[in-house]
Amino acid sequence: MRDRNFLVENNAKPIWHPMAHPAEMRAQPPRIVMKGEGVHVTDIDGKTVIDAVGGLWNVNLGYSCDPIKQAIADQLSALPYYSGFRGTSSGPSIELAYELTEWFKPEGMVRAFFTSGGSDSVETALRLARQYWKIKGQADRTKFLALKKGYHGTHFGGASVNGNANFRRNYEPMLPGVFHIPAPSTYRNPFNETDPAKLAQLCAAAMEEEIAFQGGDTIAAFIMEPVLGAGGVIVPPDSFMTLVREICDRHGILMIADEVVTGFGRTGAWSGSRLWGVKPDMMTMAKAITSGYFPLGATLIGEQVAEAFEADATTFGSIGHGYTYSGHPVGCAAGIAALAETRRLKLDENAAARGKDLAQALAALKAKHLLVGDVRGKGLMAALELVADRDSKKPADKKTMAKVADSAYEAGVMLRVSGNNLILSPPLILTSLDVKAIAEGIDAGLSAAG
Ligand code: PMP
Repeated sequence: MRDRNFLVENNAKPIWHPMAHPAEMRAQPPRIVMKGEGVHVTDIDGKTVIDAVGGLWNVNLGYSCDPIKQAIADQLSALPYYSGFRGTSSGPSIELAYELTEWFKPEGMVRAFFTSGGSDSVETALRLARQYWKIKGQADRTKFLALKKGYHGTHFGGASVNGNANFRRNYEPMLPGVFHIPAPSTYRNPFNETDPAKLAQLCAAAMEEEIAFQGGDTIAAFIMEPVLGAGGVIVPPDSFMTLVREICDRHGILMIADEVVTGFGRTGAWSGSRLWGVKPDMMTMAKAITSGYFPLGATLIGEQVAEAFEADATTFGSIGHGYTYSGHPVGCAAGIAALAETRRLKLDENAAARGKDLAQALAALKAKHLLVGDVRGKGLMAALELVADRDSKKPADKKTMAKVADSAYEAGVMLRVSGNNLILSPPLILTSLDVKAIAEGIDAGLSAAG
């Protein structure tokens, strides 16, 4: 590795960063993170902070998980790569697929298809949904329904079902035949409804209306995150996912739960679908599947979809889809170790308990700082929505958001800014003391900007 001066000199120059303007990054070069230990990361200047972002919603086990590091090293020396395309397989991919189908048996998942990350997993689910209907002789079912404010990655299919203008406009035209319904956000919704149960009914009615307008038998699938992440941690009302599952059933529409963030304990349950007591037809996974130690994702397939493919006697059931790294042996070895640690440490229970501490601490910050318009969260995924004015809910500007995040960093906490939201998704190994440290850092940030 070249020296510090080289890295600082070239920061944001030969590299374009995701979700950022290249010129802005050059003008304000990003922090260079050099080391991680436990729930802390250290930057190139030697400053150590608590990582309230958890990498990018993914480093659930923190940065010092030796069993994952060892599993990666062992697999690298035994077999660094082999393909999972027709004709060959590898040990770790078989074992991880078995583990995943065992883990998500309560959700009805019976098969796993491996990918390289979340966007791939979403793309896979959307494509398999269309194929499913061709197998079933209903080739008209090609459309997709999704939620506004949803985030489903950046491939063309995933970006088309995304419900946030920022990720769409520069890349239009998107996939045809994708329609969005209002997100059940009690803080901002088109109905001005603050009662969660009533809001769930209104959004469900909007979905029914769209289905009637499109023709239910033209819709392949509905996709949603059980808790909307990148859109600002929108926690749907308790009844919402059950209501939409019922609507999907009534119209024969497949339901895809995008669990890229919510999978493996983040909400305090092993999946978001389990949290709400719903069985989807497919689930998308990535991120915490290896705790971020290796790029890997999976699309999990429920019984009904699996049966259709496996019973198909025509060529429709053959999967003309996949990636060089589908079932990567090193990624799958990392996954096996990460999941064993996740289960051994009961990270779901810790996320639920520390999530309660965090919610309490964030509520106190809202009471103290007028800048905080709303606080939302479930388990260890949370957001503070900052506003210039609480009555009009005018979003806080970019400068204010940067000031809060920079001051919090100075005070020892790494935060992530997304629009006018501060997003929190710390490692799930968090302690009560860590929660306190995070709250103090945010408090310092808000005080500096307020
Ligand atoms: N779905 C959801 C719900 C996500 O949050 C993300 C990424 N944050 C993705 C899909 C895309 O995953 P990736 O960035 O690994 O492609």
